[in-house]
Amino acid sequence: MKPFILAPIFFVALCCFLQPFSADPAGPVIFQIEPTDTTGLRLFCNRASIEKYDETLSLWREFNACAEVGWQEYRTQGRLITHFTTLQNRFGAENILFDTMAGTGLFVEIPGDPKSGRTLIVRPEIDGLYYPPTDSTLAMVRHACGHNTGMSVACSLAEILLENKKKKKIPWKAVLFLFSPSEERAPSGLDSMLAGKDLSRYGKIVALGQHVSPDVPNHQVEVRSGTAQASSEILRIYIDASALKGGHIADKTNINPLEIWENMRSEIEQEVESCSAGGEYLLRWSNIITSSPDSTPVNVLPQKVKVFGNFRTFNPVHEVRSIEKIDSLIANFSARYADKKVLIYRVREQAIPVLVNDPVLTESVKKWGSAFLKRPINTHKLRLGSDDFATFRKYKIPAVLIRLGVKANGGLHRQDFEIMDPTILQTSLGLFTFLVYSLE
Ligand SMILES: [Zn+2]
Repeated sequence: MKPFILAPIFFVALCCFLQPFSADPAGPVIFQIEPTDTTGLRLFCNRASIEKYDETLSLWREFNACAEVGWQEYRTQGRLITHFTTLQNRFGAENILFDTMAGTGLFVEIPGDPKSGRTLIVRPEIDGLYYPPTDSTLAMVRHACGHNTGMSVACSLAEILLENKKKKKIPWKAVLFLFSPSEERAPSGLDSMLAGKDLSRYGKIVALGQHVSPDVPNHQVEVRSGTAQASSEILRIYIDASALKGGHIADKTNINPLEIWENMRSEIEQEVESCSAGGEYLLRWSNIITSSPDSTPVNVLPQKVKVFGNFRTFNPVHEVRSIEKIDSLIANFSARYADKKVLIYRVREQAIPVLVNDPVLTESVKKWGSAFLKRPINTHKLRLGSDDFATFRKYKIPAVLIRLGVKANGGLHRQDFEIMDPTILQTSLGLFTFLVYSLE
């Protein structure tokens, strides 16, 4: 082959090789470090995250391959137990303890400085999302919210802390990892873990978590002090008119549960709007299922209607008032139709509260995080997405959820969600290692 034919091939090959490094202007931290870094800690954390990259990446892929829905994360839990058993064999049971919790969760403790009066919790969530079968795909469970990222980084972080314990003292009484099940669906796995654990011997506790964000630039980190993400209340409303046995649509005296729902819906929407005081919120109906199968003639009334919806707000007062109003409306409709043998009720699910990041801890994360990344940590916009990380507040534990920018093929919760540049694992692991050693 002539050299002029080979040249373009070499050029393309070179571009492919360089692509992961040049595609994003921010890039992994590895390419920004200066050899003259004076603190040494930054260099150390950076190097540790690079040395662990292959292992973190392989865990990330393994967790991705065995994604499971909330409360069924048995293989994921098994893989975590294997990882921490290996660490226990290497470093001794006195240096790392772990136990299953809340069914499919795992609680891991790395004891640090017994004289310290404070403890750090790192919270990775471990569940995936279920997608029903379509004409062209089988039913599947996927890490369409990127939870495999937090898990694999936490596994490697524990390893780095243990490998360096002799030369780098852990400045906390303990570092705890709460691998919590079921972030995506109620009841909250984190709530179950926190309710089931006596944390009183750990002194003052603070908590950190991380979530991937395709709308934040790749390798960038964002946080928000105070109210950061919305609450989430699942609305499941049932109208059961089966005692009436349906009936002909043309007979106006027959009760149509769909019409009852339409009336309720407009009243619910008005009440929620009137409680909002002009604040941003979301009220959306995701599914209305009637008891009538496709084969039912259109002139037969349905006997049952199930409605699914979701209500989100940033204002806890709006949240509480709206839910009170919705429940009293449902009670009114139920009373109105009781003598007509129509049952109207709501099945309540545990709600996720508004996520409020602790302002002092947020400042500390910003200060040390930007020192590590050598770029500012911006404030993210209010997010209507909810996260059960908000539960820390219920237990009076100051907490901050960090948003890690990733390059992805689309938004979170899409069935085909993929993180296209896994070198964000390095950025995340380096950052968390740095925060463990430097947070005040
Ligand atoms: Zn998520």
